[in-house]
Amino acid sequence: MSAKLSMDKLSIGCVCLPGGSIGNHTGAWRSMMPVFKHAACIGCRACELVCPEGCVFENPGKKHLVEKLKREIADRDFDPDYCKGCGMCAEECPVDDIDMGLEEK
Ligand code: SF4
Ligand code: SF4
Repeated sequence: MSAKLSMDKLSIGCVCLPGGSIGNHTGAWRSMMPVFKHAACIGCRACELVCPEGCVFENPGKKHLVEKLKREIADRDFDPDYCKGCGMCAEECPVDDIDMGLEEK
């Protein structure tokens, strides 16, 4: 029979320091990559919300004109260091402005 463990005898398990996932470059997993077409994007941000890596961002320095809205919309881009190519952004884009292409490394 083993002796009973008490809380003060338990060793501390895995503890992640804040910001620890920054060093995990999930972009290395990618075999497909999103291609943002910057043509029909209406700025709904669905791609930003569904991205599991939070790596889609609005690029305020780049814009495109959307004729049917008659205004310019900021382009979306992704961070290749963290995009793992899951395709969720392309799947959820309501105006089909994101394609998935084969990754070339
Ligand atoms: S493919 Fe996946 S990980 Fe990459 S930007 Fe789109 S949702 Fe994010
Ligand atoms: S989901 Fe499509 S339309 Fe919406 S912000 Fe992203 S690229 Fe633009």
